[in-house]
Amino acid sequence: MKVFIVHAHPEPQSFNGALTLHAQEVLRAAGHEVRVSDLHAMKWNPVLDRHNFTTVANPDYFKPQQEEMHAAQHHGFAPDVQAEMEKLQWCDVLVFQAPLWWFSLPAILKGWVDRVFAMGFAYGGGRWFDRGVFRGKRAMLSLTTGGGDSFYAPDGINGDINDLLYPINHGIFYFCGFDALPPFLSYAPARVSDTQRAAYLAAYGERLLTLDTVKPLSYPPLAAFDETFRRRAG
Ligand SMILES: Cc1cc2nc3c(=O)[nH]c(=O)nc-3n(C[C@H](O)[C@H](O)[C@H](O)COP(=O)(O)OP(=O)(O)OC[C@H]3O[C@@H](n4cnc5c(N)ncnc54)[C@H](O)[C@@H]3O)c2cc1C
Repeated sequence: MKVFIVHAHPEPQSFNGALTLHAQEVLRAAGHEVRVSDLHAMKWNPVLDRHNFTTVANPDYFKPQQEEMHAAQHHGFAPDVQAEMEKLQWCDVLVFQAPLWWFSLPAILKGWVDRVFAMGFAYGGGRWFDRGVFRGKRAMLSLTTGGGDSFYAPDGINGDINDLLYPINHGIFYFCGFDALPPFLSYAPARVSDTQRAAYLAAYGERLLTLDTVKPLSYPPLAAFDETFRRRAG
């Protein structure tokens, strides 16, 4: 397997840092190839604006998706974006490693998606969901939280973790054709025991070795929707 980890944490000694380090060791020991984009180390700029492009489709009015379509046709993405696009094309499995911040991805990682998952490259022209650009590839979230697992149970105070992550698993990964895998959660690493943290790392190592076999989350195909994109009866 070729695994591409996009790592988003400002502190290398964090538990997120430990998870990404462990992932590289486990996967390489098993003969897999790994590439990591450590967004803070790269000083990744998360803001999508004209700096995303070396080309200009319309100098008078900046419409991101129009510029993206134009850039996709004219090799017009900025070098930092182009480099990430090539890693996406290279990989079999994409992993996002990050803390849950405000029930979502940290801005630096959301901005990586904003800039790299460009129209004309990652979606567009009828290529979405099960007809998506990245079909055949898999993607997984590996997230840490502040709240414990009970906070994210179906009846927990923060809501069901699978509902919270739907916009990412369905709206980003599956939208672009990836099979979204069940997320790996390390709940409250700052508050659990050393033993539990070691158990998280061990369980993550085991999960990584099943990236190519674990059953993806189940989402309906395009054929399940009518011409107004509502679910067909039955
Ligand atoms: C802006 C913001 C928004 C947030 N929003 C949310 C939210 O919506 N929901 C929520 O639940 N939480 C939220 N949080 C909390 C956040 O999710 C957690 O603080 C974070 O996930 C914890 O992960 P970490 O890697 O930062 O842990 P750290 O605090 O870096 O690490 C935890 C512990 O692991 C130890 N450790 C490091 N390496 C190893 C190793 N190899 N082996 C064993 N132990 C190790 C560290 O020393 C430390 O003691 C938010 C935090 C911020 C800053």
